[in-house]
Amino acid sequence: MSYEPVLLRRSAGAAPGAPPVGIGAYRDDGGYEGLAKALTMAPAEIIEEVKASGLRGRGGAGFPAGVKWSFIPKESDKPKYLVCNADESEPGTFKDRLLIETDPHQLLEGCAICCYAVGAPVCYIYIRGEYVRQAEILESAIREAYQAGVLGESVLGKGFKLDMRVHRGAGAYICGEETGMLESLEGRRGQPRVKPPFPAIIGAFGAPTVINNVETLCNVPHIIQRGADWFAGIGTDERNTGPKLYCISGHVEKPGVYEFPIGASLDTLLEAAGGMLAGRALKAFIPGGASAALLPADKSHLPMDFDNLAKAGSMLGSAAVVVMDETTCLVRSVYRLAKFFAHESCGQCTPCREGTNWSQLVLGRIEKGHGRPGDAELLVRMTANMSGTALCALADACVGPVRSLAQNFRPEIEEHINSGRCPLPYRRVFEETA
Ligand code: SF4
Repeated sequence: MSYEPVLLRRSAGAAPGAPPVGIGAYRDDGGYEGLAKALTMAPAEIIEEVKASGLRGRGGAGFPAGVKWSFIPKESDKPKYLVCNADESEPGTFKDRLLIETDPHQLLEGCAICCYAVGAPVCYIYIRGEYVRQAEILESAIREAYQAGVLGESVLGKGFKLDMRVHRGAGAYICGEETGMLESLEGRRGQPRVKPPFPAIIGAFGAPTVINNVETLCNVPHIIQRGADWFAGIGTDERNTGPKLYCISGHVEKPGVYEFPIGASLDTLLEAAGGMLAGRALKAFIPGGASAALLPADKSHLPMDFDNLAKAGSMLGSAAVVVMDETTCLVRSVYRLAKFFAHESCGQCTPCREGTNWSQLVLGRIEKGHGRPGDAELLVRMTANMSGTALCALADACVGPVRSLAQNFRPEIEEHINSGRCPLPYRRVFEETA
């Protein structure tokens, strides 16, 4: 497929660890022209343009970005905020890291346009604690932007005042959930809040707040510069538009971040990533990060966009594509995911706290050869009690892989139970206790 990268155009070919694009090179390449154009437009016009582009959130939920911006009350006399979600904790997801590492001003420009559109004089970039280098890169880019008059008292001399700060988290998955992130930003434990009220009405410090993912915001300067029609012309259909970063990992020759029009299939990604590792056969794949349902190999032709993956019973999520070949024990893989979610549950809701823990216990005993007849049904029943019954999406995140294993790959569970061991000849000795 011939496709000219948009989001990664300045990153393409950069050696690992290469310094990020500085403000001079960024401007020489047309950077901050989208912001300059935005400042000549009315805020409402910008919101309409983003709405018309069809840009949907790239962090996981896929909510239309322009619609989210339009929820910010215009008449409110409270301060307003933009919080950029750079927590990126979903296993298998590393696209925002690349965007920050290589081209931080692209993100700053997207943040600045969003702030102007919703009337927010302050932007926080909330970044996970483990991203030390990336936080330093952002802080350095922000300093450059202040010095160049892109941030501060009068953005590009147009009278719009904007301050931007980096806020480092302490490394909890749940702080990627928007209200958990706001709690953490305000200095408390990152436990999700009851919704409603939604952050657009009562967000950071009690004020109306937009929360957008890094990749979502990086798209904005291009939409303003090139127009909504350009953006809407890329992708599968009018509900799935624009460029998309896919993180491909697992059993492939060249894992990494690849940019395609949204809706690229796994087959297309595999071609870009050099094919299956050592030429082995594909067994299953996760299309959208650890929270997404596993899909079997025969779905590798599916367009990976929001709606086609939802129809197939999974989701695009953060577009973290984890490829598993014929040597993979799916029971063990999903057990590891359930263990992750049990560890990361904040514990506020019983279905999540108990359900994630019981999921890992039942999967662990199956993997260790102590599975009981009926365990597959038990997993399905447990996930039914977890789904839609908790405060935030973490319980459902665990449900995705666990239920898809129990429903779509049941023979693999039955084989473990019937033979009292993992049936795969490739299995490594499994020593962990469940
Ligand atoms: Fe916490 Fe889980 Fe409830 Fe989310 S669903 S608030 S992580 S207990």
